[in-house]
Amino acid sequence: MLVVGNWKTYVRTREKAKKLLVAAKRLALGRKIKIVIAPPAPYLGLFTASRGGVALASQDVSESLDSTETGEVPAPLLKEMGVTYAIIGHSERRARGETDAQIREKVQRALVHGITPILCIGESERDADAKYLAHLRTQITSALSGIPAKDLLDIVIAYEPIWAIGKSDEDAIQPADLMETVLYIRKVLGDFIPGKGATRVKILYGGSAEPENARALAGGGGVDGFLVGHASVDAKMFAGIVKALKQ
Ligand code: PEP
Repeated sequence: MLVVGNWKTYVRTREKAKKLLVAAKRLALGRKIKIVIAPPAPYLGLFTASRGGVALASQDVSESLDSTETGEVPAPLLKEMGVTYAIIGHSERRARGETDAQIREKVQRALVHGITPILCIGESERDADAKYLAHLRTQITSALSGIPAKDLLDIVIAYEPIWAIGKSDEDAIQPADLMETVLYIRKVLGDFIPGKGATRVKILYGGSAEPENARALAGGGGVDGFLVGHASVDAKMFAGIVKALKQ
């Protein structure tokens, strides 16, 4: 199981970042669950000295190949900071105008530099005609086309229905609906990855994962872990999710 804490811009002081890191290190100790933290970029450096068993993620990566792009954070620089995962195509970045073409470039940049992309996909609403499935297919297809099948095995998909993000466990997806969607995502991945490879790709769920629903979603939803937003900046809630998965 993989649990990724996306701190977004919730954490705004070094003190809070350090406290959460200490708590995350404790969770990573001797557990079978891999803990990954994605802090705001200015705090990446806090993780370089000592992060115990906690892996480091960036919340984005630049698609730029140019060395003179003010404000961009390119993959080699992230790699040097110890980043091994990159969240790519988060709905909050897509909402700011990030395009499918940029997302594909970002996935490629990450892979080239040995960073595992956590590709976020998700629909804004679930319509009765299941058009949202076609939307997910488009998001996956546009992000992954042209990437060699062997590299695709290293990608993590984070299924994050936008309607479930930033709410509470009661608003999250139900396990049976999650299972159905995960099976669909694997079917789409099967178009890109030959044989049984698609079954090996890690699929996370994100969208109001909390201690109260983590176990049911993991058990009944067929996911390999979670991408956690608001609950990842509350040490008690984050620990509650990890503990629920251990049971
Ligand atoms: C997210 O935005 O990636 C996310 C999962 O947020 P939350 O857990 O707050 O719904």
